[in-house]
Amino acid sequence: MRIEVINTGTELLLGNTLNTHGAWFGGELFKLGLRIERQLTVPDGDAIREALSESVERADVVIVTGGLGPTSDDLTREITAEVLGLELIPDEAALRSIEAFFAQRGRPMADSNRKQALNPVGADVLPNGLGTAPGVYIAPRLNGRSQCAVFLLPGPPRELYPMFRDEVLHRLRALCGIEVAPSVRELKFTGIGESDFHQAVDSKLAGIEGLEFGYCARIGELDLRLIGSDEVIEAARKLVLETFAPYLISDDGSSLEQSVVRLLAEQSKILTTAESCTGGLISKRLTDVPGSSAVFTHGFVTYANQAKVEILGVSQTTIEAHGAVSEEVAAEMAGAALDKAHADIAVAVTGIAGPDGGTQDKPVGTAWVGLAVKGLPVTAFQLFHPRNRHDFRLSVSQAALEAVRRALTGS
Ligand code: AMP
Ligand code: MG
Repeated sequence: MRIEVINTGTELLLGNTLNTHGAWFGGELFKLGLRIERQLTVPDGDAIREALSESVERADVVIVTGGLGPTSDDLTREITAEVLGLELIPDEAALRSIEAFFAQRGRPMADSNRKQALNPVGADVLPNGLGTAPGVYIAPRLNGRSQCAVFLLPGPPRELYPMFRDEVLHRLRALCGIEVAPSVRELKFTGIGESDFHQAVDSKLAGIEGLEFGYCARIGELDLRLIGSDEVIEAARKLVLETFAPYLISDDGSSLEQSVVRLLAEQSKILTTAESCTGGLISKRLTDVPGSSAVFTHGFVTYANQAKVEILGVSQTTIEAHGAVSEEVAAEMAGAALDKAHADIAVAVTGIAGPDGGTQDKPVGTAWVGLAVKGLPVTAFQLFHPRNRHDFRLSVSQAALEAVRRALTGS
């Protein structure tokens, strides 16, 4: 089944709206074992004509998003009918539901909304409970130009997602004859470089029949995607973990922070943070995880030296002797946070994000991570990530969370 997606909207091409539909459709279709062959973004207006004319010749299913609104640049309906050689006629039920939409909200309906009730002859109207634009489904048999099914769906995600679920999914299943979709599994690793990992496992994975695999390198993380039957995925997982088990964050797609929160909860432990250069990012990542309140009561963002001294109780003398970005300060921050928060584990970070503030000894990108575990001596280790501020903070937060994960797993 060849599926193509056409996203319409000038805003998507001017950089002020992120085209999230592409990624979203990719994920939803993949769950069914289907893939998008091609995805195209075109501006509002006439540009959709050429895109659609080409796609319907090539594809079995074309999904068009956007341009179903009432304004003069919303031309998806009109142009689709024209390209497929179908007449547009008013659909009474669709018109009544648009009228009801306005009536419920106590607003008058503009005349321009009437065109949203136009439907290609014979096509299904896809109800839209959350907006004025009904969707359209044109079955392959209706369309004189090719054997292609065409879906027209609204642009706003809050209207698109439920319409996809309620109106598109079952039609796609029927069209594509879907029985069993292959499984997919994502293994996340950290602390290992992409090329080393690749070199160690690539040819072995290639030897597993029926396995499709791929890599995705992120900051402080490497993801391995395994696709195939459950047995094939399990064989690949085993093979990779023979070498890389200590680096595994999760084998079910969970993020590092999700894994850390889960481990803390399993062990009934409380974590606290003392953050300088990450400005709260570690706490943010932890509290992104539902249920984090059971394992994280508070953290400390001590950006200035004075804050490290006054809030945490780091010694002024240590800062003067070694500098704020040092093994000694990272260790003191972690130890102090552990005590102040009555926690079981504390992680502290201090570093130079740049672009200024670097020295010969401590260039931009230098950071120290301190780790305090109740009952054990405090430890600290150095990082060097000379990157932009955003990526630097992400790298440091990743290393800090990984240190906590390793403390919790004893690896
Ligand atoms: P429409 O009037 O149907 O073209 O949809 C317009 C609204 O949906 C605007 O708020 C758009 O920014 C949003 N929208 C349309 N297409 C997309 C897309 N591909 N990704 C994210 N938002 C979109
Ligand atoms: Mg639009």
